[in-house]
Amino acid sequence: MRVVIAGAGLAGLACAKYLVDAGHTPVLLESRDVLGGLVAAWQDKDGDWYETGLHAFFGAYPNMLQLLKELGIEDRLQWKEHTLIFNQPDKPGVLSRFDVPDILAPFNVIMSILRNNDMLTWNQKLRFAIGLLPAIVRGQKYVEAMDKYSLLEWLRLQGVDEQVNTDIFIAASKALTFINPDEVSATIPLTALNRFLQERYGSKIAFLDGSPPERLCQPIVEYITERGGEVHLQKPLKQILLNPNDTVRGFLIRGLEGAEDEVLTADIYVGAVSVDVMKVLTPPSWKAIPFFKKLEGLEGVPVINLHLWFDRKLTDIDQLLFSRSDLLSVYADMSNTCREYANPDRSMLELVLAPAQDWIDRSNEEIVEATLKELQNLFPQHFGSENPAKLLKYQVVKTPRSVYKAIPGRQVYRPTQETPIANFYLAGSYTLQRYLGSMEGAVLSGKLAAQAISKNPQVASGEGIEPELQPLSS
Ligand SMILES: Cc1cc2nc3c(=O)[nH]c(=O)nc-3n(C[C@H](O)[C@H](O)[C@H](O)COP(=O)(O)OP(=O)(O)OC[C@H]3O[C@@H](n4cnc5c(N)ncnc54)[C@H](O)[C@@H]3O)c2cc1C
Repeated sequence: MRVVIAGAGLAGLACAKYLVDAGHTPVLLESRDVLGGLVAAWQDKDGDWYETGLHAFFGAYPNMLQLLKELGIEDRLQWKEHTLIFNQPDKPGVLSRFDVPDILAPFNVIMSILRNNDMLTWNQKLRFAIGLLPAIVRGQKYVEAMDKYSLLEWLRLQGVDEQVNTDIFIAASKALTFINPDEVSATIPLTALNRFLQERYGSKIAFLDGSPPERLCQPIVEYITERGGEVHLQKPLKQILLNPNDTVRGFLIRGLEGAEDEVLTADIYVGAVSVDVMKVLTPPSWKAIPFFKKLEGLEGVPVINLHLWFDRKLTDIDQLLFSRSDLLSVYADMSNTCREYANPDRSMLELVLAPAQDWIDRSNEEIVEATLKELQNLFPQHFGSENPAKLLKYQVVKTPRSVYKAIPGRQVYRPTQETPIANFYLAGSYTLQRYLGSMEGAVLSGKLAAQAISKNPQVASGEGIEPELQPLSS
């Protein structure tokens, strides 16, 4: 069966990969000239990479790890020491570590919390553990029911000390969803915690050894094309064309640089674009269908990714760090964490600025200036001294609408991959799957869409229409 997919982010790529595995012929169309969507990256004039986002992989990403294994590229993940490292706002430059011992889950994570005495007192730890018990004992069902509360409300209901919120959850919430605990649904951090508590290496972090488009997306493209599928860049879906019965007749693709628009037809169609784009592309007659109406309840959250190149080494830490500062979320010195970006003499800090709604419209210069101020607290030895570190160059990548904003009550708005339209499916990390708006969620959503397509009665029976690529004018 021929399946046309719009959007070559990780969801669209995974969907196409699993479709070729099932013997189908995917045609993947990406609007931009770069693969990867939210994992897209570019090279500057010096050949240095800059990315849409600082991306950490976790041990608790079974579908991503399986995909990498199937592609034969699992060695591209550079696994780090099993530890979570936090800056301490009131002690500039001092780090606090949660070292996770190599023993069975959940004892490994519990032990890491018990052994950390910088951030929580014994009384706070005890109340935190008791507060978490229902999530551990009652599992994912309970976790999903907590979507009605913000994380802050949930912590208060559980009687967890406010200090636990400021010490741990502000950092976790900003890292997971780019918003603060008073805004984020309790389901999000509880889901992550549940995974971490259930899997021995769940919270172990890895970095890709180079840029995601080259080191992760390109191998997926090769896998697809070697097996008869197609992947095309700069093919933006302009309109979903319908039959009189509201099923899809074709994808109208915008012709770029003076080229004519074209209609692409297939047996099955997949929208693997972000939820914000999907809302715009939803045909008017579908908007009345409750399934598509629900998309209105979701929207992408703004986030900013910064890259700062310095004239010296600021740190030798080879790990993700939680800044716990007002402006920033997580950061890493990519000259240590990523093989392709390695530099023994100079640091390249990649930092996520979140929440970003007050910053997304500001100039890059203002954003960099404010970030440098926060670095004085993170690296006082390099910015407070007489000979401060010199910023050589920077890149700022703004994403006004990234992953869906995971505020309370959003779970019910997340659509399944199967839609009420017989020949149309959705993929994307915003669609319903158990791994939140993440790379793992994107890959799983693509896999689920491919599975649902294979189960489609029309597909299963081998019926379908002949592939055709025709200019609009014909
Ligand atoms: C700053 C930042 C940091 C992040 N950090 C992490 C992390 O550490 N760990 C983690 O797991 N996740 C992280 N994420 C989230 C992760 O990147 C996303 O959840 C995931 O990549 C989403 O993939 P997707 O395929 O669902 O959507 P997208 O990546 O949005 O893909 C949609 C694709 O559709 C294309 N498209 C749009 N319109 C059209 C059209 N009309 N026609 C054709 N194509 C179109 C887009 O160009 C894009 O390529 C981060 C995201 C950001 C922004």
